[in-house]
Amino acid sequence: MFHLLLHACLAAEPATCAERLLPAPAPLTEEECHSTAAERAAGWLLRHPELTAGPSRCAPTADLPQLPLKEIAPGLLVHEGQDGLPDTANRGEIANLGVVIGSQGIAVIDAGASRAQAESLFSAIRARSDLPIRALILTHMHPDHSFGADLFREAGAEILGAPRLAAGIEARAASWMESYPPQVGNGALLGTLMALPDRGTADERLELGGATLHLRAVATAHTDNDLTVFHAQSGTLFTGDLVFNELLPTLDGSVNGWLAWLDEPRPEVRRIVAGHGPAPLPWPDGAEATRTYLERLRTTVRAAIAAGQPMSVAIRDRDPAEAARWQAYDTSHPRNVSAAYAELEWE
Ligand SMILES: [Zn+2]
Repeated sequence: MFHLLLHACLAAEPATCAERLLPAPAPLTEEECHSTAAERAAGWLLRHPELTAGPSRCAPTADLPQLPLKEIAPGLLVHEGQDGLPDTANRGEIANLGVVIGSQGIAVIDAGASRAQAESLFSAIRARSDLPIRALILTHMHPDHSFGADLFREAGAEILGAPRLAAGIEARAASWMESYPPQVGNGALLGTLMALPDRGTADERLELGGATLHLRAVATAHTDNDLTVFHAQSGTLFTGDLVFNELLPTLDGSVNGWLAWLDEPRPEVRRIVAGHGPAPLPWPDGAEATRTYLERLRTTVRAAIAAGQPMSVAIRDRDPAEAARWQAYDTSHPRNVSAAYAELEWE
């Protein structure tokens, strides 16, 4: 199997260049890759006026950078994200990602933080299988999970997400495109385009041949567009950011809704792949740190509101034991207090 690689630079910053992988929906031989290269590169560049292009080449899968994946059940693979909030060292590649390989096709769970990360996930998949990538399932809108989506559309996948995912991305796309490049570096995002889902889904089964995925949208919790994916054969639930470990949870939805989701009984679930932290973890123990943090957040903010404290005072809350336990506590906790305060002051 061969892949087209195109050398490209930022038009506004000509020293910032990278080789981009242009995936084909069906596997190509070396000859097919060469004979279609000029036309495919030209078509791709039409969608990227921010880039200038250099030479292209065709390379076999084995020569491409591949994202590390570990197999946690037959045909079920997980990539563990790096530590911390997005920065230039981790290039935003902090989220856990999943791949399901059935006998009739492949599904990807979350796309990674950039075109570059999605490419290395694609190469890692192609090193294992040449079956069609039928679906990219986005667990929610946040950039570390969604920014690689466009690559999987080019690779032939249908992009699925919760019914409110498209509106969530559309409302924030412009501000992310301003705030995100300085955090992770312009080079990390070279060629990255925001992609909207092809279709929203609230409750759906996806059969991949020996692997059944159950997609289920969630009431407002971490965000208003969370969606979980259950791998029936192994009892594994991909929670997206409804569960965090190590990195402090970030509240972009509803603390009440989030705790209600955590309290639902799920006898069918044996283990989870959380959005951040080690994966897999047992259920429900693997969600205990998230639950404990959110319960304390809600209790503290309710008490502040009851005591008549303004938000500007409430956000000074700091628990030393939690600060020692979580990454990014001092950055994310004040924001969580402010989000919870805005929600709970109307109770
Ligand atoms: Zn998130």
